Amino acid sequence: MKRHFALGVLLFFGFSFPLHSEGFDAARHKMVEEVLADTGATSSYSGIPALSPSVIKAMGKVERHRFVPTALSALAYLNRPLPIGHGQTISQPFVVALMTDLMKIKAGDRVLEIGTGSGYQAAILAEIAGAVYSIEIIEPLGKEADTRLKTLGYRNVQTRVGDGYYGWSEAAPFDAIIVTAAASHVPPPLLKQLKPGGRMVIPLGTQFMTQYLMLVEKKQDGSVTNRQILPVAFVPLTGEH
Ligand code: SAM
Repeated sequence: MKRHFALGVLLFFGFSFPLHSEGFDAARHKMVEEVLADTGATSSYSGIPALSPSVIKAMGKVERHRFVPTALSALAYLNRPLPIGHGQTISQPFVVALMTDLMKIKAGDRVLEIGTGSGYQAAILAEIAGAVYSIEIIEPLGKEADTRLKTLGYRNVQTRVGDGYYGWSEAAPFDAIIVTAAASHVPPPLLKQLKPGGRMVIPLGTQFMTQYLMLVEKKQDGSVTNRQILPVAFVPLTGEH
């Protein structure tokens, strides 16, 4: 209740006092500071003591205000999720940074994202990886994100509208996979499309119950390990499976 009131107040002020480019830069800098502070505060259970320089650089570079509805642009650098329409959200910046860090992406890697949403997470991945493939199930969101990413010049991102549960077999295998909606289990097609030595980051659980962010690693011999990272709250992975 308090949170809704707070968002209402923020929305009001967001409408009233739009930020301009220097304001956005300063706000983004502050957002990165908050993300770093959250990373430190959660390190004892996430196992991530500090974000890697490539992730910090990407978070400081990608302009989150370009990925939220214009009416919410003044709120874009709050360290919190925001609505993007169709009942969906752009994830909290701290969660975006942590999930990206857990993927341990190297330059040249091929990565798959399930849940394009606004395209923000795809842009962060594209700053670090060689090629990003992103799938969104809600057609208007997927198309908007594709246009946005192209307009912003991300030539190493390919998007597709469809059910990400089945992955993108023609572009597989992937060095890393990120699922940005909560699933009840690790989708077997995604595990199959992960390279040996690859990492998948996925929230597991149901919408109104506890969900945990999980790190799934496929070892060189094909065996799979799972590690619970943090409790999280994601929209559900939808589709018929
Ligand atoms: N990564 C997004 C961003 O940066 O804005 C935020 C993702 S939002 C938390 C989750 C997204 O997953 C929603 O846009 C939702 O429509 C999408 N989604 C849910 N189930 C899906 C599925 N089976 N396949 C592909 N996308 C799915």
